[in-house]
Amino acid sequence: MTLPRQRIAILGGGPGGYEAALVAAQLGADVTIVDSDGLGGACVLTDCVPSKSLIETSNAMTLLNNSAGLGIATGGLATVNAPRLYERITDLARAQSRDITARVAAEGIRVIAAHGRLAGPGTVRAGDEEIKADAILIATGALPRVLPGAEPDGERILTWRQLYDLTELPRDLIVVGSGVTGAEFASAYQALGSRVTLVSSRDRVLPQEDEDAAGLIEDLFRRRGMTVLGRSRARTVSRDSDGVSVTLDDGRTVTGSHCLLTVGMIPRTEGCGLDEAGVKVGARGFIEVDRVSRTSVPGVYAAGDCTGVLMLASVAAMQGRIAMWHALGEAVGPLRLGHVAATIFTDPEIATVGVSQRAVSAGEVSARVLKLPLATNPRAKMAGVGDGFVKLLTSPGTGVVLGGVVVAPRASELILAVSVAVEQRLTAEQLAHTFAVYPSLSGSITEAARKLMEFTPDSI
Ligand SMILES: Cc1cc2nc3c(=O)[nH]c(=O)nc-3n(C[C@H](O)[C@H](O)[C@H](O)COP(=O)(O)OP(=O)(O)OC[C@H]3O[C@@H](n4cnc5c(N)ncnc54)[C@H](O)[C@@H]3O)c2cc1C
Repeated sequence: MTLPRQRIAILGGGPGGYEAALVAAQLGADVTIVDSDGLGGACVLTDCVPSKSLIETSNAMTLLNNSAGLGIATGGLATVNAPRLYERITDLARAQSRDITARVAAEGIRVIAAHGRLAGPGTVRAGDEEIKADAILIATGALPRVLPGAEPDGERILTWRQLYDLTELPRDLIVVGSGVTGAEFASAYQALGSRVTLVSSRDRVLPQEDEDAAGLIEDLFRRRGMTVLGRSRARTVSRDSDGVSVTLDDGRTVTGSHCLLTVGMIPRTEGCGLDEAGVKVGARGFIEVDRVSRTSVPGVYAAGDCTGVLMLASVAAMQGRIAMWHALGEAVGPLRLGHVAATIFTDPEIATVGVSQRAVSAGEVSARVLKLPLATNPRAKMAGVGDGFVKLLTSPGTGVVLGGVVVAPRASELILAVSVAVEQRLTAEQLAHTFAVYPSLSGSITEAARKLMEFTPDSI
């Protein structure tokens, strides 16, 4: 018996949507993506890809401006060509979107460029067109949260999505919000030559992250000349002819040339027909999903930032794939967030995976923790890297690696070894017996593992 081809309709062509579409097409489904802004989504066009491209330039700038210490005479500080910088970033984002469009087309996936909405059971409306589907995936992403009294004007008061329309480098940038996005942009713009003030409502920057890593970054920010205002909540942001004023809760005012608002995200679900369809949302409006991406309505799945689950491109993509495997009857395991590797692209980068020290301190997990500074690593010395560390967490009984933190240049690449260990339940001993190149920063990972090797009475 031949079963009819399953029809899949996807709202949103970001990583949650297009990665799901690729899996569904691979499984033989008839797939339609409805997307309003361009494939790749905010991830490729305005958020992840542009910000990481900006950070590549800021890293190059740091290297250039620190090169005297490496024995290079450059004849003064390098400066930014802002129009060229922003043009490169937007070109690169568009090229990435085009590559995804070509890949999706090659798999026979239909793309409709329109705003889409749920329009009755098993039905999606895209402009004038109605699409019937056996399963629907909502992957419409999220939007920057706007503070009342601090509305962006796109010129001086900005969300990160408006930065690339500037024609100049902000002279005096006030970054409001010290979470991951705020810290990344503060770090990058400082390296590019802006004077940066970081307004943080919490005791320290990156309040959700590993305390040692966040402390190191905040200390470095200050040492490099950034003004970090802790426990300072921005109340309003206003604009005059050539600058901005940020008024804080305690009445103080901070002035600058531009203000970048990084105060979180809200789900982008308005006009998607969720209410009428009965799709349940949580208190903050994010779509409620289970660990195989099902919403409260049978046959309707959701993935990515619109669900508010760990807002990362890799997680969005995995939620989307899981939804399709489930909808199309494949064997599928539930989403496991405990093993997600993530990086904060400050300078140096902070990469993490698995169990955190916070969970250990809170008594949720018992673990041995070892932190090894990079300062004694020979490769770090050669590269002039003085700040950073490797931290490993292992199970006290078995020595199994439970998690890790790497603070280093390109920590996003170095963390893979720890991720493999966590995923494959390797012990510190197995990691320690693995060859690392000499000299290399990853040598600090195997050295940390050696320091954690458990010696039982039998092994002596
Ligand atoms: C500054 C910044 C940097 C980041 N850096 C990283 C990083 O380094 N690594 C990482 O893993 N993550 C990063 N992220 C997070 C990552 O960008 C998101 O997790 C990811 O974009 C989520 O993908 P998504 O598919 O859910 O949504 P999106 O990428 O937002 O895509 C949603 C798509 O749906 C479309 N859409 C919306 N509504 C409709 C509708 N009704 N009809 C049709 N189409 C619609 C939109 O146009 C868009 O194309 C970053 C985020 C920010 C803000």
